[in-house]
Amino acid sequence: MSNRAEPSFRESVDLMFNRAVALMDLPPGLEEKIRVCNATYTVRFGVRLRGQVHTFTGYRSVHSEHMEPVKGGIRYAPEVNQDEVEALAALMTYKCALVETPFGGSKGGLCIDPRQYEEEELERITRRFAYELAKRDLIHPAQNVPAPDMGTGEREMAWIADQYARMNTTDINARACVTGKPPNAGGIAGRVEATGRGVQYALREFFRHPDDMKKAGLEGKLDGKRVIVQGLGNVGYHAAKFLSEEDGALITGIIERDGALFNPAGINVQAVRDWIVRHDGVTGFPDARHVADGAVVLEEECDILIPAALEGVISLDNAARIKAPLIIEAANGPITAGADEILREKGTIIIPDLYANAGGVTVSYFEWVKNLSHIRFGRLQRRQEEARHQLVVDELERLDRYLGDAWTMTPDFKTKYLRGADELELVRSGLDDTMRTAYQSMSEMWHSRDDVRDMRTAGFIVAIERVAASYRAKGI
Ligand code: NAD
Repeated sequence: MSNRAEPSFRESVDLMFNRAVALMDLPPGLEEKIRVCNATYTVRFGVRLRGQVHTFTGYRSVHSEHMEPVKGGIRYAPEVNQDEVEALAALMTYKCALVETPFGGSKGGLCIDPRQYEEEELERITRRFAYELAKRDLIHPAQNVPAPDMGTGEREMAWIADQYARMNTTDINARACVTGKPPNAGGIAGRVEATGRGVQYALREFFRHPDDMKKAGLEGKLDGKRVIVQGLGNVGYHAAKFLSEEDGALITGIIERDGALFNPAGINVQAVRDWIVRHDGVTGFPDARHVADGAVVLEEECDILIPAALEGVISLDNAARIKAPLIIEAANGPITAGADEILREKGTIIIPDLYANAGGVTVSYFEWVKNLSHIRFGRLQRRQEEARHQLVVDELERLDRYLGDAWTMTPDFKTKYLRGADELELVRSGLDDTMRTAYQSMSEMWHSRDDVRDMRTAGFIVAIERVAASYRAKGI
């Protein structure tokens, strides 16, 4: 155990911010303006449950309003506190800037263990929390648009949207007050998988950059790479599933609340997920070794480590023992500032949270645009696209007949080419493009300057430059 003091989560984010601005040339005062959190609202409200009034504490923090609405998830967890919410709100500002979604940063949280409540109780608590936030415009399509985070999902977002609509009956854009809603309540195809899908696209892009791979001492493709993932919730499950099923990666470790599963030959992600749903944990899963102290599996040999649960899991305590040459921060803030320093000294390559888990906010942006335009993506173009493709196919078929045995169309070309893109395909395409472009801007900054020694600092510089440009344009 190290005797160096561990900064809080918010201090960690500030330290990372400071490291980046030290390499920038911002006008005096602007640095402070960008760094500070504009406002944090704390609310305590009572809900009558099981015959007595229960008091809950919730937060909504707005970090930067250089663009509005501000955006950021709502987390349900017993440990939620002001420091955490402010750190997460700040990360949202930099994340949105890095992936060019036109939002400021915000975050919310409710101190609650959702597993202790029945669905009907959670609905009443969520509606009451949403009421408290909406009446102060902290939920609003033009000002503040929440999304899911740890402990919340489509169900909670649908309740929030409905609560806002009940309070604002004439707001035609009411559905755009929150993202991550289910498809039948104004959601968008591909939002649930978006953050995990974004992690997959981020890794694919990393593996398209041989120089970056070399820095991590990795070569080849994702195929066969050994991956350890912590947290098989929304983000971790989708990331691990896609990487194993579509890219051939080997998931050798899965760390959950009740311990970890380890199997060097690979673990079937879907089977573990099904097991968790049935048994409320990974314990007893037959096809892997169970390790009671799950966190030690973070220190196992692997090629890629994906922390996808909570913050601060790689700290001064264990950083020196982490063996993975590449860590992708699917969770927010899984590596403390102190651990970050140790890992950088060791040469570990870190794909930072502000980029790695930006898939969620990217697809949330698409959902918000869809809600404001009141039409699903692809509805106008799909059949027209198919009709134009049909013209080409007709011509090719004519050629096919003319050339006889000398040439023939590839068997499934016609079916694949004729099909116009549906919403899911368009969303994935937009997400892929976003993740590639943001990676490239970060990687370019990393390689173009000798004093920028890691991807996190590069990402922060790109993001802060954009926020600063926005403030300058406004004249602040
Ligand atoms: P989730 O609640 O769906 O999943 C979290 C998982 O982590 C659960 O399976 C839980 O059992 C597990 N877990 C909790 N404590 C653990 C522990 N001590 N050790 C191991 N596992 C533990 O949450 P999520 O939405 O997947 O979010 C995970 C992380 O990703 C958070 O940091 C969140 O801020 C970040 N994130 C989420 C989204 C999103 O769209 N959901 C977007 C961006 C970032």
